[in-house]
Amino acid sequence: MRSGLKHYINGEWVESIGTETEDVINPATEEVIGQIALGTKEDVDKAVRAARAAFPSFSQTTKEERIELLERISEEYENRKEDIVETITDELGSPVKISEKVHYMMGYMHFKQAAESLREISFVEERDGHTRVKESIGVSGLITPWNFPTNQTSTKIASAFAAGSPVILKPAELTPFAAIILTEIFDKVGVPKGVFNLVNGKGSVVGEAISSHPDIDFVSFTGSGATGERIMKNAAETIKNVALELGGKSPLVVLEDADVEAAAKAAVGHIAVNSGQVCAAATRVLIPASMKQSFEAAVKQVLPKFSVGHPREGNRVGPLISEQQWKRVQSYIEKGMEEGATLLAGGTGKPEGIDCGYYAKPTIFTDVNNDMVIAQEEIFGPVMSIITYDDIDEAIEIANDTVYGLAGYVIGHDAETLRKVARSIRAGRIQVNGASANFAAPFGGFKQSGIGREWGDYGIEEYLEVKTIFGY
Ligand code: NAD
Repeated sequence: MRSGLKHYINGEWVESIGTETEDVINPATEEVIGQIALGTKEDVDKAVRAARAAFPSFSQTTKEERIELLERISEEYENRKEDIVETITDELGSPVKISEKVHYMMGYMHFKQAAESLREISFVEERDGHTRVKESIGVSGLITPWNFPTNQTSTKIASAFAAGSPVILKPAELTPFAAIILTEIFDKVGVPKGVFNLVNGKGSVVGEAISSHPDIDFVSFTGSGATGERIMKNAAETIKNVALELGGKSPLVVLEDADVEAAAKAAVGHIAVNSGQVCAAATRVLIPASMKQSFEAAVKQVLPKFSVGHPREGNRVGPLISEQQWKRVQSYIEKGMEEGATLLAGGTGKPEGIDCGYYAKPTIFTDVNNDMVIAQEEIFGPVMSIITYDDIDEAIEIANDTVYGLAGYVIGHDAETLRKVARSIRAGRIQVNGASANFAAPFGGFKQSGIGREWGDYGIEEYLEVKTIFGY
């Protein structure tokens, strides 16, 4: 059994002021794997006091000292590789290979990248008759979701540390244990007292206390749009800065000259990785009407290669995070059928032969109209919608016909059309022909996908204020 019964405040593990606890469940087995303490507003107050007390000295550390701190963290993070991979496999139900190659790796890269990007940031600049100084924003509150337990926590923490901002982290209550390992890493490498504070608990209590706390200067949140809206409203009362990384309904535009098999493989990959619980996943696949039959056939061929099942048994697709999320995904699949989309593969219920664990069937809908609920709302599960278009202008119009703008993908050969599509999609990140992203590039959304950017130098800038001095 894992224990998350203590918070970490002011450089030590402390008892929770709250007396309630909550079980953490392995979604692959439905077994309880540990407990966390449910923190209270008073726990948050205590953590904020510690962070405030740490602010004067931490914000005055040199860039070199903070680079060195980030490097020590990366080293110790590597030492904890096995624990991190095991923990994410257990709490998220992620296939071991994904826990290692995606989750472990992303967390590591954010600490490495933050050190690299920090080297490039000038904190004092002479410009146009004034001195421009960048200073730490103050104390930051970090609220993270369950779908990438080390990626989202690490990018926020690494950027805050790079900027000299002490933090209070509230990780998702469904996946708290990876954050506890991070805390152990910070404790081991000697992150100064009060610079990192962990308070576990519910969004409705701990999250609310963070977003409305008058002594927190900045809140960085990743999660649902509804919670993002709530955080912004709370933050407005004390004019706090916010960064929000919210959902998406990203398009994958397949061009007429694309290789059909490669396109099908890419499309299925998007709904399979992390069981489709990825904010930047391409869940709307836009194909030329002339390619409909060949694409549908190719997708049906590729799909069985993505075996669904226990994360430790070599399967490529694990369960969804919780029973609630499983039910949510089921209701979207039902909705798609009600709306008249054609079910090409998958459907409701659990995959054959599986009755324990929150596994969903990878599901492909075709004949989808972009107005349908399944094409407009973020499902956060392994569900693809295939939508046809007649010409490239129509493809771009459909791609942009969404309240979201997190990512976009385009596959094909003609360079001019690839560029036109890449430049026309209103979203924060576009990937052409499966080009891999790197950790220096800013990540964040247009439209209702969010506010602000994470990763690399842009990520660090979120935790900095700009001061201009005349006559310096
Ligand atoms: P959520 O937004 O409720 O939870 C994310 C984090 O916010 C958690 O730490 C949670 O405890 C906290 N939180 C909840 N209510 C809060 C409040 N009032 N104030 C402050 N913090 C609060 O997301 P969820 O319920 O876990 O998932 C629901 C849906 O959100 C998913 O189906 C998916 O569509 C979307 N989602 C998106 C992302 C993403 O990466 N963009 C991640 C997770 C979920």
